[in-house]
Amino acid sequence: QYKWKMITAWPANFPGLGTGANYLAELITEMTGGQIDIRVYGGGEIVPPLEVFDAVANGTAELGHAASYYWKGKTQAAQFFGAVPFGMNAQEMTGWLTYGGGNELWQKIYDRFDIFPMLCGHSGVQMGGWFNREINSVDDLRGLKMRIPGLGGEVLTRAGGTAVSRPGNELFTALQTGDIDATEWVGPYNDLAFGLYKAAKYYYYPGWHEPNAAIECLINKDAWATLPDHLKAAVLGAGEAAAANMLAEFTAQNHRALQVLLNEHKVELRRFPDDVLERLRVLTREVMDEIAADDAEFAEVYKSYTEFQRTAMAWHDISEKAYYEAR
Ligand code: CA
Repeated sequence: QYKWKMITAWPANFPGLGTGANYLAELITEMTGGQIDIRVYGGGEIVPPLEVFDAVANGTAELGHAASYYWKGKTQAAQFFGAVPFGMNAQEMTGWLTYGGGNELWQKIYDRFDIFPMLCGHSGVQMGGWFNREINSVDDLRGLKMRIPGLGGEVLTRAGGTAVSRPGNELFTALQTGDIDATEWVGPYNDLAFGLYKAAKYYYYPGWHEPNAAIECLINKDAWATLPDHLKAAVLGAGEAAAANMLAEFTAQNHRALQVLLNEHKVELRRFPDDVLERLRVLTREVMDEIAADDAEFAEVYKSYTEFQRTAMAWHDISEKAYYEAR
């Protein structure tokens, strides 16, 4: 009988992410016939959201529910297991992690921190964000003060903008008071819940910076080692089921929320111009190459990730993408 705590990087019951943590915890308990009993804690209840990694590593909690790009201060390579600008979508990430060597690299890197990582969710393709400034050309990125985390933020900075960090619950006020010109968050489902449409003029797409956010379950290494094989199998099975379930929830909710934003709140949808996306893509490659030149661990994962993406894209160009265009 195991009584475990799951700490999360999200507010309790937050749509998609917090509810995804609840789903995973309940599934593990059910699949183990109650042998692993889990209590879920929202961000800040035991430790602040950005301390989840350390708290699982040191055994304060056995489980964590977060996104790996938060841990780039531990190792830059962690970002590949969360989101990469112009990188892989949910379907491709799942393929790389499960059958392309990604999970082995992830486990090897987190092992240094006494954590066993497991995929347990996807956001799907995100939106570009909410803007109070029109983006008509590359020049419009100059001086743009935007809340955008991770590698996407580094790319924006290189394009002449200013990337800042703000917690989710401060985004509305930051936009409304003009503290920031723009913010990204997730997609219509979460953005509608925060009321961001009331504080910004334009809703831009696509989310070049987060073609998916893969969500991770962090498992304390010692706690993992105490489990017999049948319970480990149940946890791993629950992780796969939870990952599919979260993507299903976002798929079902995002398009409904988009209709509400467009039809009830008259949101003005804009697509980033092609030359802006092209510039951001070139700068992304520059940023990634520079980090890889200084960081062997990042370089190792970068190679595996980009090789998988290159061939996955060649296949998806004539399958998924060709079909999207044809239907
Ligand atoms: Ca985001």
